[in-house]
This record gives sequence, C-alpha cells and structure tokens, in this order.
Amino acid sequence: MHSQRMARVRRRMDDLDVDVLLLSVGADLPWLTGYDALETERLTMLVLPRDGDAALVVPRLEAARVRERPEAFSIMAWDETDDPVDVVVKLVGSPSSAAIGDHTWARFLLDLQRALPSTSFRKGSDVTTPLRMVKEAAEVDALRAAAHAVDGIVAEMRARPFAGRTETDVHRELVQRMLDAGHERANFAIVGSGPNGASPHHEAGSRVIEPGDVVVCDFGGSMHHYCSDITRLFVVGEPSSEVRDTYAVLTSAQEQAVHAAQIGTPCEGVDARARRVIADAGFGNRFIHRTGHGIGVETHEEPYIVAGNTTPLAAGNAFSIEPGIYLPGRFGLRLEDIVVATPDGPERLNQAPRDLAVVE
Ligand code: ZN
Ligand code: ZN
Ligand code: ZN
Repeated sequence: MHSQRMARVRRRMDDLDVDVLLLSVGADLPWLTGYDALETERLTMLVLPRDGDAALVVPRLEAARVRERPEAFSIMAWDETDDPVDVVVKLVGSPSSAAIGDHTWARFLLDLQRALPSTSFRKGSDVTTPLRMVKEAAEVDALRAAAHAVDGIVAEMRARPFAGRTETDVHRELVQRMLDAGHERANFAIVGSGPNGASPHHEAGSRVIEPGDVVVCDFGGSMHHYCSDITRLFVVGEPSSEVRDTYAVLTSAQEQAVHAAQIGTPCEGVDARARRVIADAGFGNRFIHRTGHGIGVETHEEPYIVAGNTTPLAAGNAFSIEPGIYLPGRFGLRLEDIVVATPDGPERLNQAPRDLAVVE
C-alpha cells in the first residue's frame, strides 16, 4: 500500500517539477510511510528525491520506533551533537525546487532556506493533497471500521442516563468508550448541553445536565490511523415541539445534502443544498459554519464542503455532512455523518440512528 503511494507521489512530483519532498511532523508522513513522527523539538524528516533513494532522518533515540523498510526508505539516525538540518542538506544536494510538509516547524524551514539559497520552496500539500483526497479501497475500509466503532458508542449512549451528570463526565465516558472500541486515540469529544449546545465547538465543562436539555455529542478518534467523527443529539425527557420541528428541518437538510453528494457535484453545491433547506425554514443566519470537511488520516482535510469550493466531488472523496442550527442562549442542533462519493452514489459510513435519542 505504502510503496504504491510513494510511486504516486513521485509521479505527482514529476508533474509539478518538484525535485525533493521533505516531510516532518503532520499527517503526510504517516500517510506515506506508516511512521508518525513525535512532535518534539528534535527534527524528524523524510527526504524523498524525485529520483533516487528516500531516507528518513530521525533522532537516534527514536530510530527504534521506526519499522525498517529498506525498499521504501533507509534510516539516517542523528546524534544529540549533530545538526539535523546539516544531515538533510547533505542528503538533498542542491535541488532547484523542494516541497516541504505544511506542518514542519518554521525554525527548520528557515534554517533550510538559509542553507539552500537557490532552492525554491513550496507547500508539501501541493504534492499530497490531490492524492490524499482520493481514498483507496483500503482507506475507505479503515474509515468504515472507525465509523462503525463510534456508531456502536452512540447505541450504548442511548441507554445511558444524562440528567444530573456534568458535561465533563459524559466527555470522559465518550473518550473511554472510543479507546475501548478500538481507537488508538480519542481526538475530541464535544458535549454541549442546553444553551452550551449553541456554541458549535463548546468545550465540555462543569454544567450539570438538566431535564429538558438537548445535548450535542460530537466525538471522534483515530483507529489504525484513520479518523472517525460523528454528531448525535440526546434529549433528556420528551423533546418540546419546537425542538422536534427544528430538528425535522435539520434532518431534511442533512438528508438532502447527502443525496446531493454525487460524483461531479461541486463541493459548494452540496453546501448550498443543506443551506437552502435551513434558510427556507427561516434559520439561515443560525447555520454558522460550513457543511462539512474531508476526513482521512486527519479529522479535517480536503475537500471542504463550503461555498467557494468549486472542486467537483470525485470517487473516493470522504467527507462529513454536518449542518447545524444554533439558537444562542437556548439550544443547538447538529447532525453529522461521514460520507464517501462512489460511482453508485453517496455512501454513508455511519449507520447509527438519526432520530432524537430520548434519554433519562
Ligand atoms: Zn467541528
Ligand atoms: Zn464532528
Ligand atoms: Zn466533523
């Protein structure tokens, strides 16, 4: 899988006339090699020339974390007294163009630019984004497995009590359940109860959940490197007719946006579909974010489902569809599934029930 990816990356470097790709911290490196660099002050950097052998420059004390893969890259361990930028500079020679990972610490880029004054630098994402956007079958399988795991958590939470618990308590339970369900990492767990739900990225806090509250739970993690991300709503006791009616608008917007996510439809067309349904019901100014984001080895990546993104959807694009309606001071509603564009139409990876879950 990874050697095929490296071949595709090299073809793309050819197309863009990039002589060397330099990848440090960030998601491009694990996507390409399976190795996740530690985010520390010590430099880890894959040096991938357009022609010639690739090398992973890595601190000696972290070299043991790297699975040896001589067919893909050699390991170049540096010692505490070495200057790792020098090691990279010696490996690259004098390229006329380099692409460097978007999340590389600025201090390493500045040192490299000083050491390589005749090299022009561009973003690593210029090389990797179009490739990462189109998921291979194995990647879709990994996303499906992660989605299935969080679907199971939704089913379990529907049988759990919410009233009398703090948001933080529910947050901790979601984190623990993600780990128990096979995620190696819980990336986030938003729990917004009552008025707090009207803030889309509310951080779970000390508020005690009360009867009548709508509780927005939006959570996700990483499973075998691929991310899950789901939002479902839990209502303590029977929901009011206002909550029911507003949620009916939202589910219709989400449903229509999912159906609009056909190959060839511009990303902004999918966003517009959700937005029109919500605006027609009079909540246009209460839907305060884009409709969705791509997902893969990162929770948020291309393609973004947002006005202005005219890129047509392609087979293998994976993204969230997550419209919301937020009434400040009162409650918030959001519904989110991960969807893949396929030749047979949009496939939802999440299957958890989408109705309002009435809980105690
Ligand atoms: Zn979000
Ligand atoms: Zn989410
Ligand atoms: Zn999301």
